[in-house]
Amino acid sequence: MQGIVTKSMGLWYQVETADGQMHNCRLKGKFKLENKKISNPVAVGDKVRLISDQGDSSAMIIAEILPRENYIIRVSPKKKGHSHIIASNLDQAIIVATVGTPRTSLGFIDRFLVTAEAFRIPATILMNKIDLLSPEELDGLKEKMVEYESLGYQVLYISALKPEDIESLKSQLANKTSLFTGHSGVGKSTIVNELAPEAQQKTSEISDFAQKGVHTTTFAEMFKLGTDTYIIDTPGIKELGLAEIEKDELSHYFPELRNLMGKCKFSNCTHTHEPGCAIETAYQDGSISPTRYDSYLSMLAGDDNRR
Ligand code: GDP
Ligand code: ZN
Repeated sequence: MQGIVTKSMGLWYQVETADGQMHNCRLKGKFKLENKKISNPVAVGDKVRLISDQGDSSAMIIAEILPRENYIIRVSPKKKGHSHIIASNLDQAIIVATVGTPRTSLGFIDRFLVTAEAFRIPATILMNKIDLLSPEELDGLKEKMVEYESLGYQVLYISALKPEDIESLKSQLANKTSLFTGHSGVGKSTIVNELAPEAQQKTSEISDFAQKGVHTTTFAEMFKLGTDTYIIDTPGIKELGLAEIEKDELSHYFPELRNLMGKCKFSNCTHTHEPGCAIETAYQDGSISPTRYDSYLSMLAGDDNRR
């Protein structure tokens, strides 16, 4: 029998099988980690093969993890050099952002987009709370975001308080597995709870666990919205990590830099000061965005400030 891991709580995993049934599962014996730097063997979104547990008829055992199409990892804040997989088999990653309540900086959005590029996951920017903007402010925002659309990122505008906006968001999510992330306060839980009402109770369960200090490997949790349609919430995860991105790879994850860098005079150009740098030229003549180039420079400098 096969299923999808929808929740991971320490040693137990919740797995949904094709018939829609949820099963509490454990891992078989001592599971070998493919990559020793990754601390969790099984993540939300994993497709797994189940076998029955001889000793416990109400439980099943995860015998095998099927190959992952992709996954997104986060550097462990506690264990240096270790990461854990937040979720796997994603069709898109969505950053919920707001203009002023709170402010989501373009730098923060750029870091998210680089992470999504690095993990080869299509990225969407979801601007929420547009009900708080004047028509002029909304126009200004849309104008600014055109640049992101031209880079190939989808940008959506909603107010989580408007049922019709939630409905249109649902149609954007259909037949996909979408991961939600974002600064706290942007309305992510409001959106997730509107999409999946059962999330409400789960979220409070998780915070109860957190308060009691119960060990949980990851707080990512998947909710089913319909056939082949899932959302994954990441409560408690402030930012997706830029794990294992080498500095000389960074420009590959900015589509506009990736397109130009072949034209630089030196093949090992860092696009910071070198003569004959095509990106420097594009910056000077305004054909690449100064804020995007700034984001590149600050990420290259290892600037971890969440601006
Ligand atoms: P989270 O920290 O991202 O999960 O944010 P919450 O979902 O807890 O929302 C933070 C606050 O913003 C709450 O008071 C929500 O009611 C409010 N909020 C969420 N979405 C919207 C929106 O579209 N418009 C307005 N005006 N308020 C919103
Ligand atoms: Zn260059």
